[in-house]
Amino acid sequence: MKKIVLIVLDGLGDRPNKILHGRTALQAAYRPNLNHLASLGINGVMHPIKPGIRSGSDTSHLSLLGYDPEEVYTGRGPFEALGLGLEVLPGDIAFRANFGTVDSGGIVMDRRADRISQGTDLLASSLNMNIDGYIFRVKEGVEHRAALVIHGPGLSSAVTDSDPHEVGKKVETVKGVDEAGKRTAELVNRFLEKARNILRNHPVNTERIKNGLKPANEVLLRGAGKAPDLIPFEKKYGMKGACIAGIPMITGLCNMLGMDIIKVKGATGRTDTNYEGKVSALINALKTHDFVILNFKGTDVAGHDGDPILKKSVIERVDRAIAPLKNQLENTAIAITGDHSTPCEMKDHSGDHLPILFVTSGNLRDRVKRFDEISCMEGGLEINSTNVMDYLLQISDRSDKYGA
Ligand code: ZN
Ligand code: ZN
Repeated sequence: MKKIVLIVLDGLGDRPNKILHGRTALQAAYRPNLNHLASLGINGVMHPIKPGIRSGSDTSHLSLLGYDPEEVYTGRGPFEALGLGLEVLPGDIAFRANFGTVDSGGIVMDRRADRISQGTDLLASSLNMNIDGYIFRVKEGVEHRAALVIHGPGLSSAVTDSDPHEVGKKVETVKGVDEAGKRTAELVNRFLEKARNILRNHPVNTERIKNGLKPANEVLLRGAGKAPDLIPFEKKYGMKGACIAGIPMITGLCNMLGMDIIKVKGATGRTDTNYEGKVSALINALKTHDFVILNFKGTDVAGHDGDPILKKSVIERVDRAIAPLKNQLENTAIAITGDHSTPCEMKDHSGDHLPILFVTSGNLRDRVKRFDEISCMEGGLEINSTNVMDYLLQISDRSDKYGA
C-alpha cells in the first residue's frame, strides 16, 4: 500500500487569455516539474462534481475528498462560518449574521450599523458564551457581516430568522418551524437577549455614539444551516489524513472530517504564500499520515482578480516548489489538479473541465507530456471530481474488490 497525496491548485483551470496570446495561464507557465510528472503518469480531464457544474470551493473540495455534495451538502451557512475561521463540527448550527442598529423598541434602523468596519472583532468575541452547556461562538466577517455557530446535542436548523430583512420592522423572535426547531429557537432567543445586554454597554458602541455613528447593538440572524453529518475521513477510507491549506474554509472542512491540520509558517492563502514550506510540510506529514491534501489558493485569487500574468507566476512558483515530489513516487500516489476553473476573463468560477494527473511508480502511462487544459484532453482519463479518491485508492493498492 502506498501513501496518497492530493495537490489542489484552487481555481486552476482557465480559458484563453488575450494577454497570453490565447493561452491559459497554465499553458503559458514555465512548468518543467508539472510536465515531468505528467509524462510519467496518466492524465486527463476532470469535471468539477460532474460536467458543467459551476462549483464553489466548498462543494468541490467535498467532492474531491469523495463526499458527493449532492448527498451531503446542506447549504452555504456552515461553510461560510468555516471560511471566517470558526470551528464547525457535524451537527452544529451556523447562522449568517449582520451587526445592525435597532432603536429602544427593537425596531431596525440600519441593517448594517452604518456599515461598521472597525471593532467588530471585539464585538464578536464579547458574544462568545455558554448557555445550558450549548456553546455559542461569533466571528466577524467583512464590514458588518459575521457568523454564529452553536455547538451542542440535538440542535436543529428548522428555525426562522431574527433578521426582519427590512428597515423599520421589529426584530423577530426566532421560532421553530417544527418540534425539533423549538428547543433550538428557545436557545437562540436567550442568546439574543444576552447579546443585546452586552452590545448595549459595549465600549465599541459607546465610542461610536460619541462619534455620531450608529451603534451595532443587535445581531441580526438569518439562514440557519446545519453542518452535514459527514463520515469521518479515517472511518471512510481507513487512512489517517492531514490537510495543509492557507484558507480557513479548507482547513475547517478537513477539521470537520477529523483530519489533522498542519500549520505552515507563512502559509497565507494568498499569492505570497510559503510555497516551499507547504511542500516540505507535506513530505514530512507523509511520515505520520497515509493521506495529505495540499491546497494552493493563489491560482484562484489571481483568477478572481482577472490577472493571468499573476496566475501564471503562481503556477510557476508551485512548479518550483513541488520539485522534491519526484523522489516520493516509489511509495506515494500523487494527483495534481484544481477544484474548479476560475478563468481570468470571467473573474469567477466556471464549470469547465480541468486537467488532472495521477502519478506513482509502476502505474499506467499515457502519451501526454505537458500538464495543461488542452494537452490533458489527449490523456487516458475523463473523471468527475467525486471519483478522484476512488482512482487514488486504486493506484495506491488500497481498493477493495467490487464483486467476486
Ligand atoms: Zn476553489
Ligand atoms: Zn474562487
